[in-house]
Amino acid sequence: MQKLAPYAVTESVSRGRQHPEPPPSERGEFQRDRDRIVHSTAFRRLEYKTQVFVNHEGDLFRTRLTHSLEVAQLSRSIARALGLNEELAEAIALAHDLGHTPFGHAGQDELNGCMKAFGGFEHNLQSLRIVDTLEERYAAFDGLNLLFETREGILKHCSLDNARALGELGRRFIEDARPSLEAQIVNLADELAYCNHDVDDGLRSELLALEQLDAVAVFAQCRRSAESHWPGLSGRRLVHETIRRMIDALALDLIAQTRARITEEGVETLSDVHAAKTLAGYSEETRKNLRELKTFLFNNLYRHERVLRMTDPARRIVSDLFTTYMDNPNLLPPPRRTHAESASDSDKARAVADYIAGMTDRFAAKEHRRLSGRNEVNDL
Ligand code: MG
Repeated sequence: MQKLAPYAVTESVSRGRQHPEPPPSERGEFQRDRDRIVHSTAFRRLEYKTQVFVNHEGDLFRTRLTHSLEVAQLSRSIARALGLNEELAEAIALAHDLGHTPFGHAGQDELNGCMKAFGGFEHNLQSLRIVDTLEERYAAFDGLNLLFETREGILKHCSLDNARALGELGRRFIEDARPSLEAQIVNLADELAYCNHDVDDGLRSELLALEQLDAVAVFAQCRRSAESHWPGLSGRRLVHETIRRMIDALALDLIAQTRARITEEGVETLSDVHAAKTLAGYSEETRKNLRELKTFLFNNLYRHERVLRMTDPARRIVSDLFTTYMDNPNLLPPPRRTHAESASDSDKARAVADYIAGMTDRFAAKEHRRLSGRNEVNDL
């Protein structure tokens, strides 16, 4: 077993589970969290939830499931290099997108709008809600009863009002304290993963062209490096050789900079991590490069006409479903139905939001088609 740095999260410093349980045999507590996440229903749903490309665009594009696996892989590599708890990083990474609605940001924005009068909807908070209460797998408790540190890592951001309602877990937002380094690196691994795989998917879908990407400094540098090692290389192999260099450059910079900041700040314990400024990060140059890449993706991919044309139907599906279930809670499946029928408006709205947020893209489209008789998206 790898020796952990003194500022890593370990079982002996963990703040434990909400419901006490006997220790696992033949695996550690953090492995148990990872395993519970992998076995959850919400995790399997990630296969049919998408961010940029809806499933029917093609079989080779990332889904939230493959995205989460890539984030987990990057998080583990970075955690290991820094002597951090790999299993905790992996658990946080696998759970980080569980709360996403169908249809990516369009779905989330619409559901948030529908929930405006009832406390809003936020996917990050929803991820926590899934692991804390919504998963129904254990006889003794609701949710997955994960360790405090896994839950802390899942909750990346939160309003002060929500923080107050969350008690212990919300305290760091009120006190402006940092989460574990494991949580910090997963947050950056998420961005690192999607920036690179969206370039790959963008090129594969031909929404982006290789020549266009030469305007992005980090891509151009990595492409030149690939071409100088492999003169004449072209097509998919050139794309992959370029992207693997980008991932490598970003990850290595992240590891080196984070290591340097840990030393600079004199961080020796986990309490030091909580009290210090955010330690995980990039050099100024890499941060600039990453910002340029993100701006490029925003302007050329996320706002591409072929991506945007899904936005309106997606929004209509979510808002129609919301209105329909609010007016007819008897259409919800049990036990939500029984609960919603006798609940206050705001509890009913939350039950409806939980149900819609849990849907995959294609289930939401199918359910909408069944209830409205209209076909908003084909072939899902
Ligand atoms: Mg993500």
